[in-house]
Amino acid sequence: MSPLFSSTEECINEFTTMAESLYARKISHLTHQECFYALASLIAQKAKTQQAAILAHHDAHKVKDVYYFSLEFLIGPLLDNYLLNFGCRDVVKESCEKLGLNLDELVSLEVDPGLGNGGLGRLAACFLDSAAACGIRMHGMGMRYHYGLFRQVIEGGRQVEHMDNWLERGFPWERKRTSDAVLVPFGGHVERHDKDGRFWFTQEDAAYVKAVPYDVPIVGFGGETINNLRLWSAQPAEQNFNLAAFNAGNYAEAMRFRDDVEAISQILYPNDSGEHGRLLRLKQEYLFVCAGIHSILDTFEKEHGSAWDSLPQYVAIHTNDTHPALCGPELMRILVDEKDVEFSDAFEIARACVSYTNHTVMPEALECWPISVFRQLLPRTYMIIDEMDKRFHELINEKCANRQDLLAKTAMLWDDKVRMACVSMVFSHSVNGVSELHTKILERETLNGFYELWPEKFTNKTNGISHRRFLANANPSYAALISNAIGTGWLQDARELAKLSAFEHDAAFLEGFAQSKRINKARLSTYIEHACGVKLDPSMIFDVHVKRFHAYKRQLLSVFKILDIYARLKHHTGLHIEPTAFIFSGKAAQSYTYAKEVIRLINSVADVVNNDPEVSDLIKVAFVPNFAVSNAQYIYPACDISEQISWAGSEASGTSNMKLMMNGAHTLGTRDGANIEIAQLVGEDAIQLFGLNAKEVEDLRASGSYWAWDRYNRDRLRLGRIVDSLTDGSLAHLSGNFESIKDELFTNNDHDLVLADFYSYVEAWKNLTEHYTDAHAWNSEAVHNTAQSGYFSSDRTIREYARDIWHIGS
Ligand SMILES: *Cc1c(COP(=O)(O)O)cnc(C)c1O
Repeated sequence: MSPLFSSTEECINEFTTMAESLYARKISHLTHQECFYALASLIAQKAKTQQAAILAHHDAHKVKDVYYFSLEFLIGPLLDNYLLNFGCRDVVKESCEKLGLNLDELVSLEVDPGLGNGGLGRLAACFLDSAAACGIRMHGMGMRYHYGLFRQVIEGGRQVEHMDNWLERGFPWERKRTSDAVLVPFGGHVERHDKDGRFWFTQEDAAYVKAVPYDVPIVGFGGETINNLRLWSAQPAEQNFNLAAFNAGNYAEAMRFRDDVEAISQILYPNDSGEHGRLLRLKQEYLFVCAGIHSILDTFEKEHGSAWDSLPQYVAIHTNDTHPALCGPELMRILVDEKDVEFSDAFEIARACVSYTNHTVMPEALECWPISVFRQLLPRTYMIIDEMDKRFHELINEKCANRQDLLAKTAMLWDDKVRMACVSMVFSHSVNGVSELHTKILERETLNGFYELWPEKFTNKTNGISHRRFLANANPSYAALISNAIGTGWLQDARELAKLSAFEHDAAFLEGFAQSKRINKARLSTYIEHACGVKLDPSMIFDVHVKRFHAYKRQLLSVFKILDIYARLKHHTGLHIEPTAFIFSGKAAQSYTYAKEVIRLINSVADVVNNDPEVSDLIKVAFVPNFAVSNAQYIYPACDISEQISWAGSEASGTSNMKLMMNGAHTLGTRDGANIEIAQLVGEDAIQLFGLNAKEVEDLRASGSYWAWDRYNRDRLRLGRIVDSLTDGSLAHLSGNFESIKDELFTNNDHDLVLADFYSYVEAWKNLTEHYTDAHAWNSEAVHNTAQSGYFSSDRTIREYARDIWHIGS
């Protein structure tokens, strides 16, 4: 690829032209926000031009396109990443300087797109980056939410949710494609039609919603591949607009109708609080599936005509979790009702195209819809699922008669519900888990009925992360040190990070690492002081627990550890610790009361500890508000200790464990998700593992011999006292006691095994931090972690998907 700008002069020219054409003012008169917008618009325009040039040479008969359906893409700010991928960061930086602007400052003004919750959406975003870097034509299909999850503000220790109006200042990367809009039918009734011995169905009296796509270019590293992320937005269809009301002057009625339609793409649902089951969510799911499948078939038809049998040869449809589970049925619907394909053939085509990634082993998190709701909203889709369900019953009865137990586990329609995981399983040729442990649990438990039927469908694809974003962009000082030592090849191929092994005992390199860590910790300290007023000393250990708030992720266990250390310091027990800053960040779903109470607890503990002069040189607690990709990029590089402490068997994979390890953090974790694979790579000596393993958790639960009360009573002076402090007023100063957390511990018999893993956790923390003062050994191990982290690049993951699931060579 020729460079984006041949010189700084050219860059300055184009930048100023763009700025002036956008704002009709000289660039020197623009705000920094406007300068950011102009620069991003320029890069977006270049990306689109480049995309068109690549497309002009594209031979549709040679390549397969992958469509990655995900309700979430937590892409984060794009500008810095695209400058890196286009290889023009230096020239743009220099041009900015000549214009009196600071590129780093402009980059920091980009707003996080509110398009995802956490891990699942971030994975989809890392896959976009990696597929484009690896030359795989993978396009995202998602929703363009008008409002993101929410903007988290902490008031009096409590999480307060504000609207996340992320589109307010415009989104420079998107382009609206009105001509590709799709009409999506909801409701109505189904009519059967016969002609010449063939029959098909139409959906009559349906209400149509117009799905309008907005395209975002996805720039691959090196700029050779530019893919597309297509985000759908719901708008009223003209033919449906309440014209009668409008003409009668009843604007309120007419507008209410418009609002109802637009509501479909108005908000992003939280992913973890039983929010599913809402009709609007089902409308979102169907809207982006229907519109997405429609646009795929449109494209295919233009290139290949009606050779539908060959669809699986050119098109792979990947479904991220069960939210897009209707891709298979929708593909069948269009093939049968509109493209004249026979029912069984249509099913085989759909199954050969579609594949599915499972993200959770928790049965209560598996998506279900009441049949009555589902059938009314999607009558034709329901018919197709119903017919396939009947055929599935026949298959089971043929293969293994009298296996009601098997049907109870695998039938799509069961107990008056549509079970989306079963729909995903039946309508796909492949299912994968996201870490080795997770896939094993799927096979043995969550999806074991299907594993009995179709073991060949199961594969593992351990998650990965974009090392370009989370190391090269997020940690420029370390990235420069690495490139200086081993060259820049690692940007393209993360496996080259292994070359750092040779520097694990290199004094100069380790000193460079220590310096970079200090820079990152100082940068984060500045950010934290600004964001929440807590002053951290960068010479402290930075102990980091950042992720969504959820009971299974056990932020409560972290807090208990802090309370234990605090009490032991206060009571002069002779405990000696290295000065440590405990840094938390993450959102709790609006309706997830327990998780929100844990956030309040952390802020109360921070209030007590940070204001206690007796300990405040030794421990500090900070809660960073509004966790997002942008501030995560400040947090990960500054971390010394990575807290990955979910109870074993609960976290499907985790990805922040990978990001932190890559940035040279030491992992303190349970034998859960991908932590196990981290341990295999770095060696058990280079990771601090603790607590019950998955088998022990299962056995303990099965034995019925675990009693939270016993654990509490057995050690009233230490663990018991911590539990008591939740309600005895000692933490109540900021915002009151924490009865509900204590209640939860005992009424649910400590479901998340906080008390069970407490001692081994505190012990492990102590062991790990004792080594901090041995700077050589500590930094050497940190560099060892980075050297072993190449495996966790999502480039590796995406190549495995391409080879094993989508069957494309690259
Ligand atoms: C990586 C990432 C996550 C996922 O973190 P886990 O610890 O794996 O749950 C969530 N949110 C953001 C912003 C991330 O970058």
